[in-house]
Amino acid sequence: MKRHTVRELQDMIADQSVSSDEVYQLYLNRIKAMNDSINAFISIESDETSSGTEENDSEIKGVPYALKDIFCSEGDKTTCGSKMLSNFVSPYDATVVKNLRKKGTIILGKTNMDEFAMGSSNETSFYGNVLNPWDTERTPGGSSGGSAAAVAAGMAPIALGTDTGGSIRQPAALTGITGLKPTYGRCSRYGMIAFASSLDQAGILSISAEDAAIFLEHMAGYDHKDSTSSMEEVPKYTEFLNDNLSGKVVGLPKEFFDGSLDSKYQGLVSDSIHEYEKMGIKFKDISLPNIKYSVPTYYVVAPAECSSNLARYDGVRFGHRSSDDSDLDAFYKKTRKEGFGQEVKRRIITGTYVLSAGYYDAYYLKAQKVRQLINQDFLNAFKEVDVIMGPTTQQSAFKLGEKVDDPVSMYMNDIYTISSNLSGVPAISHPIGFVDDLPFGMQVIAPHFMEHDLLNIVHKYQMVTDWHLQIPGICRELDR
Ligand code: GLN
Repeated sequence: MKRHTVRELQDMIADQSVSSDEVYQLYLNRIKAMNDSINAFISIESDETSSGTEENDSEIKGVPYALKDIFCSEGDKTTCGSKMLSNFVSPYDATVVKNLRKKGTIILGKTNMDEFAMGSSNETSFYGNVLNPWDTERTPGGSSGGSAAAVAAGMAPIALGTDTGGSIRQPAALTGITGLKPTYGRCSRYGMIAFASSLDQAGILSISAEDAAIFLEHMAGYDHKDSTSSMEEVPKYTEFLNDNLSGKVVGLPKEFFDGSLDSKYQGLVSDSIHEYEKMGIKFKDISLPNIKYSVPTYYVVAPAECSSNLARYDGVRFGHRSSDDSDLDAFYKKTRKEGFGQEVKRRIITGTYVLSAGYYDAYYLKAQKVRQLINQDFLNAFKEVDVIMGPTTQQSAFKLGEKVDDPVSMYMNDIYTISSNLSGVPAISHPIGFVDDLPFGMQVIAPHFMEHDLLNIVHKYQMVTDWHLQIPGICRELDR
């Protein structure tokens, strides 16, 4: 099986060697052939067309993509991986979906995810876990695991995901693809079902950084419907891809290289640093002293915001509704008890606790203060270096079931990714090799609104390496 990049599809559609309908059919057929083995899609949209395109000369007209089921898309079931929204059909498009629709892109289907994006393994989904195409006994990561697996297995050329604490970068790393979390506010959150509003950001899971640059250009931008979206102009990201990297300074935080990374992964990180050195990049040791508080800070802030955001699911307005409605109070409780899974309940309870009058100062307020210190660490570091690099995760894909009963060990999955969400800076993960036939990723973090720098750096690496082009064996087997 050949996995096409968006760039290749664009060229093929432009020179008419294939029509956009044929491209769409090709991916639908693959989804139909593979979804039973991977469970990447919750629903498949088999009647989409690009005929409604407002811009006929759009460079991405006819390019199909997979959409995480957290984004509202008009007329489509939008479940957020939850029983609570299992009957919800969105009456409107999220702004990023609308932006892409205007350019003539086509939605292939809605991808599986951890319930309300809470999780790192896709095992909290009401629709069953996603399987990692590299080894179906392992998790593809989460929460955007369906989007990651879809791209890795060639069921979609590119996918949208969301990243609140690592949910694009971690699954991208575990499935051997590229995952970009843009700056907070770069893409509108309107129509993206809220988990933790001050951390959530829409982003891209793709084969290459070049593809991410192509899509980000069309997704991003100010939206009056999201007061936290930025007015900062959207650059033409593709124009920066060939900038010279010579003279760039990369910081290596000592906190990411504290000896806890297994030597087999450390070897891959060192190899990729060496590759970057050959391009003229200089490396410098730095420190982010407060980064060690990222995970505990996140697990106060994110549940606090989720407890408030998820209060809207009361069974009255939309979503699951308990059949027992004899008494209003009992009805609310039953609806929420039946509609939410265990992890979501755990977060709501934690969030309600840290926001309660007696504990607000001790937990929530303190976490907000530490969040400022973490942000200041990044601002200080970026006075000395252009970008920061380190591993995306501490290990490659772990076995399904291995961490489900141990929430703390599951939460530690995001030890390297969470700090960027707390500070709002953009970050990208890209594949840098394999350990025991499983892919491993490296993260690059940039100052706010410097996505073009991240994409340029990773694109340059992908010009001289082919880790991002490796295809899981299951794709070849299914071809036969
Ligand atoms: N794994 C983290 C969590 O469970 C991050 C999830 C995300 O980025 N949506 O909260």
